[in-house]
Amino acid sequence: MSRNLELFERGKKTIPGGVNSPVRAFGSVGGTPRFVKKALGAHFWDADDKQYIDYIGSWGPAIVGHAHPTVIKAVQDVAVDGLSFGAPTEAEIEIAEEICKLLPSVEQVRLVSSGTEATMSAIRLARGFTGRDAIVKFEGCYHGHSDSLLVKAGSGLLTFGNPSSGGVPADFTKHTLVLEYNNVEQLERTFKEIGDQIACVILEPIAGNMNLIKPSAEFVQTLRALTEKHGTVLIYDEVMTGFRVDLGCAQALHGVKPDLTTLGKVIGGGMPLAAFGGRADIMGCISPLGNVYQAGTLSGNPVAVAAGLTTLKLIQEPGFHATLSRRTARLAQGLAEAAKEAGVSMVTDSVGGMFGIYFCDAVPTSYAQVTASDRERFNRFFHAMLDEGVYLAPSAYEAGFVSIAHTDEIIEQTIAAARRALARI
Ligand SMILES: *Cc1c(COP(=O)(O)O)cnc(C)c1O
Repeated sequence: MSRNLELFERGKKTIPGGVNSPVRAFGSVGGTPRFVKKALGAHFWDADDKQYIDYIGSWGPAIVGHAHPTVIKAVQDVAVDGLSFGAPTEAEIEIAEEICKLLPSVEQVRLVSSGTEATMSAIRLARGFTGRDAIVKFEGCYHGHSDSLLVKAGSGLLTFGNPSSGGVPADFTKHTLVLEYNNVEQLERTFKEIGDQIACVILEPIAGNMNLIKPSAEFVQTLRALTEKHGTVLIYDEVMTGFRVDLGCAQALHGVKPDLTTLGKVIGGGMPLAAFGGRADIMGCISPLGNVYQAGTLSGNPVAVAAGLTTLKLIQEPGFHATLSRRTARLAQGLAEAAKEAGVSMVTDSVGGMFGIYFCDAVPTSYAQVTASDRERFNRFFHAMLDEGVYLAPSAYEAGFVSIAHTDEIIEQTIAAARRALARI
């Protein structure tokens, strides 16, 4: 029996489903999850010592590659001085200054430990600041697992959402309106009718949790104009896109200045660190300055801050994002060409260090289009690639991630592997 399977069976006895986050269980693609023994650069090794080229990168954080020596050294250096104090440190100010420097929309920032905490806190803050209850999110966007965001669309326009998870009272989601991504007309109608009641709109500015979906320029510009007009707080949830799609994040690519931004993944460099920040007048409503409560025992943890700050410095090396984008675009292009050669209906897209693979004829622009793609074929491709030693996200609805450690050679190896895999499916 493979060691991966052995560990999976053992893990299932004491951990629900054998995993600590659901997508890791391979539920949607089937088969045995790979247990990671170690990782370096663009690769990791599983419990059976098989090597993989990794296109998840811990779901985004590993943008400089796994176990980057400078990041590891920074973590080791601070760890010997103590792991957590529950009192402020200078490094927290340094990373706040770094984030404010890179994001002009962020005047003040608060550190937390997960993206879920960041979005949950940003929404509470937006409600406290505006004195309004209603919030808007878009179908297919994921903003962590807090109650009011685990919601699916109601039955009609302006009907508020229903819980999409057990354990969430309908009362908790009745203030969350779910609209369609890229649907400008629906957005305009909604704001015309109830704009003055909406506390905030939370957006994945480039969606990465329903595969990769880009917004239209009209959609993001309309959203900014309407939220501004109605005094609604615009939250860019850049937990995934932050510092991955561009040094200035998705907001720089859009030329949009959101009121609040949430960050995670890359800013922790692989450690539990996330943040929310934005306009100083809004951030001033947070405790201890204001009456919106928010706190965290491990917030701004020194080891996490060391990993994050070091990562943020590494990605500012000249040409970092240009190289990352070029290699990711080459990967996407090469995969699409391989599919064409094999006569498989599969297209790809990319932005910065993120890419999407879609088993359909055209790049989707909405959740409905993504979910109409050929999932069975994706699953066969996923397993064929796994056999080839390429680890893609184990779901047709997730984006892929490239790191700067993915050299041109590794990208070409991946494309060659895809050619063989596509010929087999
Ligand atoms: C990953 C993610 C989150 C949640 O972050 P966690 O650290 O997993 O809680 C929130 N929003 C977006 C856009 C994400 O991709």
